[in-house]
Amino acid sequence: MGRSVLKFGGTSVADLDRIAHVADIVAHRARSGEALAVVVSAMAGDTNRLVSLARGAAGDAVKGDQFDDEYDVVVASGEQVTSGLLALALRRRGIAARSWLGWQMRMHTREGHGAARIDGFDQESGLADAIDGGEVAVIAGFQGVTDEGRVSTLGRGGSDTTAVAVAAALSADLCDIYTDVDGVYTTDPRIVPQARRLTKVSYEEMLEMASLGAKVLQTRSVELAMNNKVSVRVLSSFAAPEDDNPGTLVCSEEEIVEKQIVNGVTYSRDEAKVTLYGMEDKPGISARLFSLMARAGVNVDMIVQANARGQGRANMVFTCTSADSDKARAILEHHRDEGLFENLDVTRDVAKVSVIGVGMKSHTGVAETMFEALFSKNINIDVISTSEIKISVLINADYTELAVRALHTAFDLDAS
Ligand code: ASP
Ligand code: MG
Repeated sequence: MGRSVLKFGGTSVADLDRIAHVADIVAHRARSGEALAVVVSAMAGDTNRLVSLARGAAGDAVKGDQFDDEYDVVVASGEQVTSGLLALALRRRGIAARSWLGWQMRMHTREGHGAARIDGFDQESGLADAIDGGEVAVIAGFQGVTDEGRVSTLGRGGSDTTAVAVAAALSADLCDIYTDVDGVYTTDPRIVPQARRLTKVSYEEMLEMASLGAKVLQTRSVELAMNNKVSVRVLSSFAAPEDDNPGTLVCSEEEIVEKQIVNGVTYSRDEAKVTLYGMEDKPGISARLFSLMARAGVNVDMIVQANARGQGRANMVFTCTSADSDKARAILEHHRDEGLFENLDVTRDVAKVSVIGVGMKSHTGVAETMFEALFSKNINIDVISTSEIKISVLINADYTELAVRALHTAFDLDAS
């Protein structure tokens, strides 16, 4: 049998009982003859605890040239613990296993500490030979080593990316991401009980869903999987080892025969709307405005500009995360005397609701169905934005759940 990469997240290794359960799953698969590399996250909550310890020691300076390499040393330790614990639990079950830390497998990274990017690991480290020889490699996720030999970390949620990078380097048949849900759903089952688990979802759709708040996979891991054509499966770590546990396969569009027009409805309440009234209507104003935002690190999402009649003035609306909205307001107020705009309004009681599906590329009428469904519930649309496989609307946050339910039904996603 071929090589497989399995990954277990924080809730799956949250305590010794959960680790024992993970060891049972891994042992079951090892006995069936798969060559296994298993990537683990830190125990749930541990990385947060380590981050605050690092902050406590460094003060506000925790991010900064003098500090951030040591920040990585601290926060990477959570994964060292779980890799050792899982190797121990596997040996207890009679399975040959050893832990591999980032520097031992020489998982090379570049760019900043705390947000490093993976270049790949050294095949000479012996990891591939070890797993082909029947020893389970338990890999500490989220960490690597810089060219200078220092410990680095990948940014929060980075163990998913470790798993995909390892799968790509090992040419593994499968990259199974075990987590606390049994797959990717058409929408949030807490809002729509009729939500269905998707059998397959394309990389592109998953990227839209991941960045829109379906927090199953780190966005960067999906990009890496797409670029390297790694098939990723999301499945439950709570199922028994011998259970049927098909999960959701994240794969290329060509592998999906039955393409749905819409595969998912997502929402985000973490939005703010900035309205600028009476903007000067001449070249360079938008460039100036959004360079101010970019320099302040405000991530702007939807943008709409409309010419107010006459006067050479226009109005503009843009959205950003509610966390960034105070910053956006402060910058705009600060530059008010440049005469970029006359009045300013910032509200946070908005939500973004989106429908996503690769089938949209070849079907018309999706916007019509969406807007009809919202109209039937008397929901007003504030801002609209579209991409090839997504339509998003900004609405009053009070109607988020109503909108999600209406759209889920309108696009025939409800389970029968
Ligand atoms: N432990 C790290 C975090 O909490 C990495 C991960 O779990 O993927 O962000
Ligand atoms: Mg995660």
